Amino acid sequence: MNGDTSPMSLSPVAAARRYDGDELVAYDRQHLWHPYAGSLGDAPLFPVVSAEGVRLRLADGRELVDGMASWWSAIHGYNHPVLNAAVRSQVDRMAHVMFGGLTHPPAVELARRLVELTPEPLQRVFLADSGSVSVEVALKMALQFQQARGQRGRTRLVTVRGGYHGDTFGAMSVCDPVGGMHQLWSGVLPEHLFAPLPPAGFTKPLADADTADLAELLAKHRDEVAAVVLEPVVQGAGGMRFYPPAYLRRVRELCDEFGVLLIADEIATGFGRSGELFACDHAGIAPDIMCLGKALTGGYMTMAATLCTEEIAETISRAHGAFMHGPTFMGNPLAAAVATASVDLLVSGPWRERVAGLAEGLEAGLAPARGLPGVADVRVLGAIGVIELDDPVDMAVVQPAFVERGVWVRPFGKLLYVMPPYVMTAEDLATVTSAMVDVVANVHVPRG
Ligand SMILES: *Cc1c(COP(=O)(O)O)cnc(C)c1O
Repeated sequence: MNGDTSPMSLSPVAAARRYDGDELVAYDRQHLWHPYAGSLGDAPLFPVVSAEGVRLRLADGRELVDGMASWWSAIHGYNHPVLNAAVRSQVDRMAHVMFGGLTHPPAVELARRLVELTPEPLQRVFLADSGSVSVEVALKMALQFQQARGQRGRTRLVTVRGGYHGDTFGAMSVCDPVGGMHQLWSGVLPEHLFAPLPPAGFTKPLADADTADLAELLAKHRDEVAAVVLEPVVQGAGGMRFYPPAYLRRVRELCDEFGVLLIADEIATGFGRSGELFACDHAGIAPDIMCLGKALTGGYMTMAATLCTEEIAETISRAHGAFMHGPTFMGNPLAAAVATASVDLLVSGPWRERVAGLAEGLEAGLAPARGLPGVADVRVLGAIGVIELDDPVDMAVVQPAFVERGVWVRPFGKLLYVMPPYVMTAEDLATVTSAMVDVVANVHVPRG
């Protein structure tokens, strides 16, 4: 490599100054993977060089109002002075130190906040390095707990259709069997038990029939099931569905009836997104194990958390001496410091009013999509807005159409959905929602 002429061989910082947007995209297309993407195509790809507030700045200078909050995570917006300061002050103390046999203020501070904010029975915190890992930890905890209390036959999990819990193998095994590509992995994934989709609609009254299949499944496999795992009230990447809190309450009752643990995956819903601090709060229930991630660090670093009851922690520890998990970057101080700052920023501010305001803006802004050809449903809960179409969008056309309209919306199959940063103004939100309606009306072509 000739270091003087090739920008590829410069240090990353120097290289970033020398690359123009086209060069970034060209090198990326040759050498990088993207989420759920192939290596052969020329799917639209946009070089972003900085972000501030609710705006992403592209290499060509264009600014996009971000409707995605980087997949639920950047709830305070980008380049936030308080979060920047938290990272800076921690990096000067220590960026990382192993968590085996050592502890530190950022981990303790974060744990204290999570224990205080989450439902009372959740007292012990495992700091993991991504959402998927926190789900692996939750599943392992449930299985180890059942072993520890002598219920060795309880090795299966029950979940509902339409769920998404991450991309690692354990998490994949409880994702929706269709969307999660179980076909591809049959023979590899353990076969767990799937109840039908929860009833659609946050406000829908619960009928006995809605939980009959789940109850039957638990009864039939009463000695085999370790835990029920699901996303409370909002199913995210598995279909952006909302279901009634009464369903979750009934799941809690069934778990107690059958001596099964309840794992609530709040990775997407945690920290106010659905209108309550945690989606479990809509139902007034406490799970036995809760996963948090995404917004935990305000979108700054990768970190997640698995909380459990003292009973689970004690039972495992008495029987086995240890819970058998421990990632290299467990409790990472940088991530924990920025997570603590993000949680403080959230709970000391008017998040509830902001989320309610976004809900109103999403309702009003997306309403015109109702009744457009090709639109199956429009729904809003908290700061989550969804237009569900009859057919999948053509990303090659629709993705650039959003960018031309000055917004960042990343559709997924038949779903145009947004979960904006909580700090988005009504005016910016209107820009996002009108772009969504405009794209559905004038760009997306229903197959019909
Ligand atoms: C995103 C998500 C995960 C996986 O988190 P990663 O950080 O992407 O590994 C798990 N469960 C739910 C509900 C999610 O939304």
